[in-house]
Amino acid sequence: MAHTIVTETCEGVADCVAPCPVACIHPGPGKNVKGTDWYWIDFEVCIDCGICLQVCPVEGAILPEELPSLQKTP
Ligand code: SF4
Ligand code: SF4
Repeated sequence: MAHTIVTETCEGVADCVAPCPVACIHPGPGKNVKGTDWYWIDFEVCIDCGICLQVCPVEGAILPEELPSLQKTP
């Protein structure tokens, strides 16, 4: 299983990117519905450690489940 970044909830703060131990959080192209940058998690690489969820300041932007319907990928 992997964690998910909810594309339309993410605000592109990127606090999650550097702490990820396997560097599987990547920027998406363009803006989301909030008009902000957004990031996505590579489900195939994520090791489900939960660090991104602990550091994200935006409530609900990261969920501890693999939910491809909520996360866009380029
Ligand atoms: S998931 Fe959270 S910490 Fe990561 S870019 Fe989005 S808002 Fe920022
Ligand atoms: S759960 Fe861990 S490995 Fe997966 S994206 Fe978040 S920080 Fe990276």
